[in-house]
Amino acid sequence: MNNNPTRRVMLRTGLGVAAGATLAASAARAQDEKIAQELVQYQNQPKDGQQCSKCAQYVDPNACKIVAGQISPQGYCVAYAPKEG
Ligand code: SF4
Repeated sequence: MNNNPTRRVMLRTGLGVAAGATLAASAARAQDEKIAQELVQYQNQPKDGQQCSKCAQYVDPNACKIVAGQISPQGYCVAYAPKEG
């Protein structure tokens, strides 16, 4: 049970949100799989002006390069990374 990778990611996300999100994003890229929305605390609303449509991972009109499922342009998750420029 303690060796379950998903559980480890969830624990780390709980202990350090940014560190957990970075870890999850790296794992997703390495395995070419997307992260479950729950693991990155995805929500359908912006947070402090940060939203998916302004994120480097966002894929118009409703997807994300690293997070699975339907993604709202107004959504947000802890893996948010602002677009440059
Ligand atoms: S904030 Fe960025 S990484 Fe998170 S779901 Fe939206 S587009 Fe994907």
